Amino acid sequence: MKLAVFPFLTQADRSQFSHTPILSDTSDSPFSILQDVFGYPQFRGLQQEIVDHVSGGGDALVLMPTGGGKSLCYQIPAIARQRRGMGVTLVVSPLIALMHDQVGALHELGVEAAFLNSSQTLDEAREVENKLWRGELTCLYAAPERINTPRFLEQLDRLNARGKLALFAIDEAHCVSQWGHDFRPEYRALAMLHERYGNVPRIALTATADALTREDIIERLKLQEARQFISSFDRPNIRYRLVEKTDAKKQLLRFIQDEHEGEAGIVYCQSRKKVEELAEWLSAQDIPALPYHAGMPAAQRQQHQDRFLREEGLVMTATIAFGMGIDKPDVRFVAHLDLPKNIEGYYQETGRAGRDGGAADAWMAYGLSDVVNQRRMIDESPAADEYKQVMRGKLDALLTLAEAADCRRVRLLAYFGEQAGPCGNCDNCLQPPATWDATDAARKVLSCVYRVQQHSGISFGAGHILDILRGKTTDKVTQFGHENLSTFGIGADLGEVQWRGVLRQLIALGALEIDAEAFNTLRLAGPARAILKGEETLFMRVSEKAPAGGRTRRSTGGTGSGTARKADHEAGLDADGLRRYQALKAWRAEVAREHNLPAYVIFQNATLAAVAQDDPRDLDALASIPGMGEKKLAAYGDEVLRVSASA
Ligand code: ADP
Ligand code: ZN
Repeated sequence: MKLAVFPFLTQADRSQFSHTPILSDTSDSPFSILQDVFGYPQFRGLQQEIVDHVSGGGDALVLMPTGGGKSLCYQIPAIARQRRGMGVTLVVSPLIALMHDQVGALHELGVEAAFLNSSQTLDEAREVENKLWRGELTCLYAAPERINTPRFLEQLDRLNARGKLALFAIDEAHCVSQWGHDFRPEYRALAMLHERYGNVPRIALTATADALTREDIIERLKLQEARQFISSFDRPNIRYRLVEKTDAKKQLLRFIQDEHEGEAGIVYCQSRKKVEELAEWLSAQDIPALPYHAGMPAAQRQQHQDRFLREEGLVMTATIAFGMGIDKPDVRFVAHLDLPKNIEGYYQETGRAGRDGGAADAWMAYGLSDVVNQRRMIDESPAADEYKQVMRGKLDALLTLAEAADCRRVRLLAYFGEQAGPCGNCDNCLQPPATWDATDAARKVLSCVYRVQQHSGISFGAGHILDILRGKTTDKVTQFGHENLSTFGIGADLGEVQWRGVLRQLIALGALEIDAEAFNTLRLAGPARAILKGEETLFMRVSEKAPAGGRTRRSTGGTGSGTARKADHEAGLDADGLRRYQALKAWRAEVAREHNLPAYVIFQNATLAAVAQDDPRDLDALASIPGMGEKKLAAYGDEVLRVSASA
């Protein structure tokens, strides 16, 4: 039922009504909540099943990719159960820096919500506790460390005694697992919720968990009885591209200039120093960029995050400290200048692109030194051997993905246990790379590593091995007498770039191991023997040549698969529509500033574009636009009509 009351109200009535926070329609059916509160015409994917199950009091483990619509899966049951008099939903989330915006977004929808975290004053926290006690809240967001305090547990006890604890929603549930890539020890204590409040249903949600992590989540949170809802992990609108690193900064610049000028994106780097340098360098190239890493003062970090969320077309250069829970819908690209740790990390990070469903790019530049670095970091970490072994396996899976000549998406999805056919939207599908029979080259490398080790009794690093292969008489070569080896100069037929490619792929295959304890030297391992004996044939992707310098713009032929795909909602609009759209966006920016919230929390681009396209003339017509829920219609409907009509 969509606000049939409105047409009968006078203008004055309406504006009075628009200040009334409690809405007349209090149906507790999930579907009407979807329509009335959120303004969406239908559920997506598994949402309906999940929402029905949890609203009815069932436990659930939900795996859904980023942008799949997880929030609705607990917000709708929270509203439904509150409307049935069952009390408050506690949302456990590690994302303190985002709670303000999350709660603000619910307020915009007319849902009573609050958060408790360390950023508040004592008075503010008291105020929230009072609301909680008075039963005014539908959702309470809290960090896990807060929930584990005796004071808070006592409050939960009292609520529970009155039957006013409706639901526990555990967001970012992979944080409970050490196999996940964001382990938070405080999450472990959440098992206690089940022991203490066995009568209260729980929903745990994550966008990232391979089979091992999934098992661990179930075990740790005692979710054995919960129903599992596993969505397809596919993000069809994201185009995956992994390019060989030649001059990373220049490659990145060309990528942004050619394909994403003026658009929002995230660039991940490994070190804090690199993050800062890169932001500065991009800014100097006229690409507005801000750094973000865990070493920055908290206030500055928050400020950069807020600007990224609130401004358009900003690039964030960041370590992986940035991004969890970032729900900005119009991030058009995620770039990696360093190799992530594993496929879950890569998928989680790249998943932050294109949440609005529009075309987006996941672009990564990587090279041999990345592989060496990541290996070293694992080997040098103080972790237990078992853990290191798992991490090495995960890194190998990522390297195999990077070296693959077939569909990236097929491999990514297979990693998460999903079968798919070639996607047509990754670099390898769009431009199948040439492959060559590298069996001979691989044997040359392996026998060179073997001979050198035999000759000198110690191992050497990649650079030296390549010098010997290519017949270079460097100081080191003569110092060790390596020019006398039978493998000296046997690789003069291939260039440096090709040889590095062969080395990388042998490392990805596990035929070469890097010994971090001995200056990153190489030694034979695993399948090396079989390859040397000629029992295995190797096909490798042909290494790209270093580009011949200078940047090629899209208009003059572009850069290979990098055809621009503007994801704009502007695409379908005529000149009048475009004018309305721009005016609506400008109006929205004002409102967002006043409310201190990101613009997309007020209305998403898709909603404004639909208004601009349909040009509705009254509130009734406006109410049918997706994203126009009751509260937003009441609060902004008149203004939206006015702005659109006068544009
Ligand atoms: P996740 O938390 O899974 O990454 P979100 O809950 O932030 O994803 O949802 C992603 C986007 O999809 C949001 O902009 C949300 O408003 C939108 N969305 C979710 N469910 C629906 C739906 N049923 N219809 C239309 N839009 C939806
Ligand atoms: Zn593909």
